[in-house]
Amino acid sequence: MWTELLPIGRSSVSGGYRRYAWSGADLECRAWFRAQAEERGLTYEVDRNGNQWAWLGDPAAGGAVVTGSHLDSVPDGGAFDGPLGVVSSFAALDELRERGAALDKPLAIVNFGDEEGARFGLACVGSRLAAGQLTKDKAHELRDADGVSLPQAMERAGYDPAAIGPDPERLARIGAFVELHVEQGRALDLSGDAVGIASAIWPHGRWRFDFHGEANHAGTTRLEDRRDPMLSYADTVLAARREARAAGALATFGKVSVEPNGVNAIASLVRGWLDSRAADQETLDRVVAGIEAAASERAARDGIDVRVTRESFTPVVEFEHALRDEVAKLLGGGVPVLPTGAGHDAGILSASAPTAMLFVRNPTGVSHSPAETAAEDDCLAGVTALADVLEGLACS
Ligand SMILES: [Zn+2]
Repeated sequence: MWTELLPIGRSSVSGGYRRYAWSGADLECRAWFRAQAEERGLTYEVDRNGNQWAWLGDPAAGGAVVTGSHLDSVPDGGAFDGPLGVVSSFAALDELRERGAALDKPLAIVNFGDEEGARFGLACVGSRLAAGQLTKDKAHELRDADGVSLPQAMERAGYDPAAIGPDPERLARIGAFVELHVEQGRALDLSGDAVGIASAIWPHGRWRFDFHGEANHAGTTRLEDRRDPMLSYADTVLAARREARAAGALATFGKVSVEPNGVNAIASLVRGWLDSRAADQETLDRVVAGIEAAASERAARDGIDVRVTRESFTPVVEFEHALRDEVAKLLGGGVPVLPTGAGHDAGILSASAPTAMLFVRNPTGVSHSPAETAAEDDCLAGVTALADVLEGLACS
């Protein structure tokens, strides 16, 4: 499976993946998913939001055990974030068949569309739409950097954008959803475990900071006469680190756009995107408020007008304890339970069905980068763990 997936959407320059929602690379990944489903004699379907499903057993029977993840990527992403969960799902199904496991419940493998939000700026679009956490109207307003709207992109990819929206009947079929994912930190590396179980997803969000100043000549404008938004922005980036460190939280400015973006011009507008996450809502609110206050204070000194817009927000997700405990029991105990700062489809679905997550050790902790990695032995341990969990949940 990896041999077929590895070349899809891979940049020859960076070695990273550029599998953006509804792009050619995404469509190749989708074709791969469909082929995997059909090779195994599974019933293949695409839901109204473009999420792909492969069913063993009758979907309408209810109480299904569902596993899967996503195949799209961030810009220059790694090979494992997403695909490890989908590949492991098919591999776990193969293992269950080898074991001759007699499943009493239907089993499904899913590929959720547009998980990373790399193209349209909003993460988990496929699962959010299905769960009713993103309205059709809002989704239709999403645009990529080239001005292509989500409906246009879906239509060009051969999907029907008019059909998107909440899918409660489909989600009601799910008895339990288990997502396996490469760990995006070093907790398992530090604890010396190949596999872990998720306890919670930290609350997280994205905020856009617009610093409006005045464009002018870099060679003739006296320092005293400048209204340079780059200074306010730079100071805000440092403030974000200070606030996050003081609170034991995370705050990152990882994307910035500058107008007019000329080497010899003082900027008129600097737009920076803050990603912030913390263990609880109160801490996150305090961190973001601290960064906003620092931005306003510095902007006032620089003669800059600053506006802050919250573009997305996901509250804390505490995975259901009963399912989490059952997963831990099925894995024989001793498996570490850890929180994560990364959002996942499992977090979105947790409002609609019991969900759980398994993490596979990432020896460097690096993710969202071509350097993301996992050892083959650990990946195989992940497949066995997932197969154990699926078998335990699907056999009465
Ligand atoms: Zn992911």
